[in-house]
Amino acid sequence: MNFEDIKQKAQKYLVNSYAPFEFCAVSGKNATLCGIDGREYIDFTSGIGVNSLGAANEGWAEAVSKQASTLQHISNLYYNPTTVLLAEKLCNASGFEKAFFCNSGAEANECAIKIARKYSFDKYGDGRNEIITLKNSFHGRTVTTLSATGQDAFHNFFFPFTEGFKFVTANDCEELKNAIDDRTCAVMIELVQGEGGLIPLQSDYVRFVRDICSEKDVIMIADEVQTGVGRTGKLYAFENFSIRPDMITSSKGLGGGLPIGACLVSEKLGDVIMPGQHGTTFGGNPVCCAAALEVISKVSEKEFLEEVSKKAQYFKQKLQGFDELQNIRGLGLMIGADVKDAAASDVVKLAVKNGLLMLTAKTSLRFLPPLTITYEEIDLGMEILGKVFKTISEGK
Ligand code: PLP
Repeated sequence: MNFEDIKQKAQKYLVNSYAPFEFCAVSGKNATLCGIDGREYIDFTSGIGVNSLGAANEGWAEAVSKQASTLQHISNLYYNPTTVLLAEKLCNASGFEKAFFCNSGAEANECAIKIARKYSFDKYGDGRNEIITLKNSFHGRTVTTLSATGQDAFHNFFFPFTEGFKFVTANDCEELKNAIDDRTCAVMIELVQGEGGLIPLQSDYVRFVRDICSEKDVIMIADEVQTGVGRTGKLYAFENFSIRPDMITSSKGLGGGLPIGACLVSEKLGDVIMPGQHGTTFGGNPVCCAAALEVISKVSEKEFLEEVSKKAQYFKQKLQGFDELQNIRGLGLMIGADVKDAAASDVVKLAVKNGLLMLTAKTSLRFLPPLTITYEEIDLGMEILGKVFKTISEGK
């Protein structure tokens, strides 16, 4: 099949839920992907923060194929060693007490929402079930996580939405304080708003959220679906803020390219869910857990995380060298930048044509390269970005 055949089949047989760029990937190594056109493309996206160890990482591929050729699946009705080893590793590395495994970020958030509501129901009875999230947040595409998402654009078509969510302005302590009442059971935040435009929360605000949640016995949930697994230079982003949420959700980079989500809970939430109250067929699937075990084993090492921070600094410095960019921001290798005189979406389209994959977040450029990207790959990508800006300015 050539590119045109693939595009035609995609149009004919796939539900029209995406608008793909003009690129078809066939293989890759680390942050260098090979297109069906035979060209190499530098990857500043890692599949939207998923391929944390890059494409076709040897240790990862070995762990996955070993598990696939040993036992690919067993129901949660039985035990298996790989799932418990991942739970142990993840709890020990993150400092949480217990893990629930699922298959995606939205599902991890669904689990967190259920646990927060059940904790409150068990302790305080009916009616204390409201969850406060931030305006401009993004928490997923299921009906309930869309309801939790603080953006009007997502509250359309699919009525009726789930009740019990309230939205407050990020970094406004007073507004949050006034919003919490005797119906509130949880506050859920992204420490860096990803889809919302790559906006890190202020440290003081995050500490305020922690303090007020503790004071009122309201569960603090950090949605670390995009910020987790080494992305910000710490295993989980909350470590940058010197606080510990009661519960975090993780997905994207966790499986290094296989679908897995996790909800990690602190001691007081460890026994909230009893048998039969939550579950999913594929949750804790051994192949996905073997993949995640390999990822977490590597990413949780101090030296690995230090290297992520160093590369992040290098990456940001390179971006700062472009006059066409402003407001370069982010934590670790989760970086955003605004384009001065062009639309970010046009820059991304032109970059694909020139052999560079990038993302947007609202009107900004967003960079989520593999955590293992090499300095050479960063340089090559930046060279292409330079060419793109030159082409744009020559076209004016
Ligand atoms: N939460 C955050 C912060 C996200 O960025 C995303 C996806 O972009 C999700 C939840 C949803 O994750 P998934 O697409 O795996 O359901």
